[in-house]
Amino acid sequence: MAIEFSEEHTLFRQNVANFVQREVAPRADEQDQSGAFPWDWFKRCAELGYFGVRYPESVGGSDGGFVAYCIMAEEIARGSMSLGLIISMQSMMATDFVFRFGNDDHHRRLLKPALQGEKVGAFALTEPDAGSDLGGVRTTVAEDGDQFVLNGSKLWITNSQVADFFTVLASRDRAKGVKGVDFFLVEKGTPGLTIGKDIKKLGTCGSVCGEVSFDDCRIPRTNALGTSGTGAKNLKEMLAQIRVMTGALGLGLSRAAYDAARGYAKERQAFGRPIAKFQAIQHKLAEMALDIHASKLLVYDTAARIEAGERPMTESAMAKLFATEAANRCADQATRIFASYGFAMEYPVQRFFRDARFLLLGGGTSELLKNIIAAGELAK
Ligand SMILES: Cc1cc2nc3c(=O)[nH]c(=O)nc-3n(C[C@H](O)[C@H](O)[C@H](O)COP(=O)(O)OP(=O)(O)OC[C@H]3O[C@@H](n4cnc5c(N)ncnc54)[C@H](O)[C@@H]3O)c2cc1C
Repeated sequence: MAIEFSEEHTLFRQNVANFVQREVAPRADEQDQSGAFPWDWFKRCAELGYFGVRYPESVGGSDGGFVAYCIMAEEIARGSMSLGLIISMQSMMATDFVFRFGNDDHHRRLLKPALQGEKVGAFALTEPDAGSDLGGVRTTVAEDGDQFVLNGSKLWITNSQVADFFTVLASRDRAKGVKGVDFFLVEKGTPGLTIGKDIKKLGTCGSVCGEVSFDDCRIPRTNALGTSGTGAKNLKEMLAQIRVMTGALGLGLSRAAYDAARGYAKERQAFGRPIAKFQAIQHKLAEMALDIHASKLLVYDTAARIEAGERPMTESAMAKLFATEAANRCADQATRIFASYGFAMEYPVQRFFRDARFLLLGGGTSELLKNIIAAGELAK
């Protein structure tokens, strides 16, 4: 089955690619080194409507569909994985629960301004002692009259230092494991909410990420995002999208690594000829091209199914697993083709290599994804 993109998709891809080529890629290394939140990129992405692609017009989105959303993620990741990470938070993970379960007041004060780049959101699941195992979260929530009280801490929370609001996973009843967790909206400035400092990371260094803690943090009951006991189910409804989008980020990185490696292989001379003439180098390029093609098929086949209303859990895990592992292979091959220059901080290839590691974690580790695929296959 051939993947067909509409004229609108092709035009949209071209527009995002132009933005990335002019405004993102030339500054991606500088942003990686600075590490400060890139407000100018963030505002430009809002201006260009990227945060609202998968949301309806009623909340300020453009109803562009999930395929277009993945095209955007792929093209942005070609220029900067840090920006890809920031955008994916703002346009999906940090805003989706507010969209689906927030009230009119949350939509007016938080969601719509977020899609316009006036507020920043964050998505807080991971904790110091629980990442993949969401049923093991220790952040608790208790009812007290017309309020909820949160206690605990979260780690690795992207955008935390600049966030205006947080979608937080907390347990109502730890004995119930994953069946006892739900999502809550916590706004910046709420007493008891503390934001920790930026974590120094291996990759995606152009984005900020840190600890968030809750110490008798009181929020109104209206800030429950979903009814009691539905947290895991509600998360699952977004998980296929998170995974395919992360696969699209991987595809973008693979293409960036491939383009750089192919260009270099044609120019770099050794033993009196361009290194692209050596079969060993050609094989690396061939493997990268194959990885890119297969990633594209998996990502967009699954994206189209999601856009058509399906929720393909096994296939989305496959798309994420393959495309993110492929991104790591492509980044690795590119550093080999660049040899010492692949080791030099002044060339972007080392950034691709470091950033690719993030893809193996966010949205589910490769090990977890294999569990999901195996469970899906065995249930047939
Ligand atoms: C740059 C960056 C940004 C991030 N941003 C966010 C964010 O905004 N919000 C957020 O909530 N989190 C965020 N995270 C955290 C990320 O989602 C978690 O790191 C990820 O879910 C894995 O959790 P963990 O690191 O606790 O690993 P663990 O769950 O402790 O896993 C450790 C190892 O054990 C393996 N493992 C665990 N369980 C199983 C199993 N059942 N079967 C087989 N193997 C298993 C894992 O695959 C892994 O190899 C971010 C991480 C990074 C690096």
